[in-house]
Amino acid sequence: MQALSAAEILGVWEHGADRRPAEQALALLAAACPERAYDSLLELTVGERDALLLAAREQTFGDDLAALARCPACGEMLEFATRTAELRAGPAVEDAGEPAPRSYRATLRPAGQPGPAAYVVYRLPTAGDLIDLQEVSDVAVARRALADRCVLEVTWGGGEALAHGLPDDLLAVLADEMSARDPQAETQLDLTCPACGGQWQALFDIAAFFWAELAAEAKRLLREVDALARAYGWREADILALSPQRRHAYLELIWTS
Ligand SMILES: [Zn+2]
Repeated sequence: MQALSAAEILGVWEHGADRRPAEQALALLAAACPERAYDSLLELTVGERDALLLAAREQTFGDDLAALARCPACGEMLEFATRTAELRAGPAVEDAGEPAPRSYRATLRPAGQPGPAAYVVYRLPTAGDLIDLQEVSDVAVARRALADRCVLEVTWGGGEALAHGLPDDLLAVLADEMSARDPQAETQLDLTCPACGGQWQALFDIAAFFWAELAAEAKRLLREVDALARAYGWREADILALSPQRRHAYLELIWTS
């Protein structure tokens, strides 16, 4: 795991700008974890992926985060600050261990109804599953497709069944079961609105957040390269190889002369 350099930030942004979020998340990780094979990144559970993204973000942009959220009660836009440590579901992972094939057994009982329980053996959704299903825009369809991939065995209604044949309420119980096994996959923030005092929980998506920061940084770097190339005639690669301190010192000279 390493911080992304200026050249890597531009490279990742260029490579991923037209891609979907699940692929952008992997592009970020592939650049931050050159020691890992791409296929091994695809096998990370979503929570493992997000824990590594959190660590990569920390290395690249530090551990303070500022984000915006709109109060659902009064519509006020609030800016809130947090730290990467606050977003961790477990201990910090600099480098999670090699992903091993893991499966879990669960009994899915329909909430509040006397319907039959289902017995399943399942694995957790992975970064690769999210990429494979990223074209599916219907949430219900995506949930069934994910269940078909992740559920390895099902017994329901007295016999073997297929995951996509389970009723919605059991699939919802399965989704909760998976979230509980992989808590970093879903980060909820407790927010309080300074205008109306309303309290709510908002989902925090480290992949989308880190990508948005990277895109903003890439555009800022391009402006710096543009200014320095115009003033000194230097090549892009040489400008990006300068330390930020040196780059900014030259920019200050241009802007103050
Ligand atoms: Zn409010």
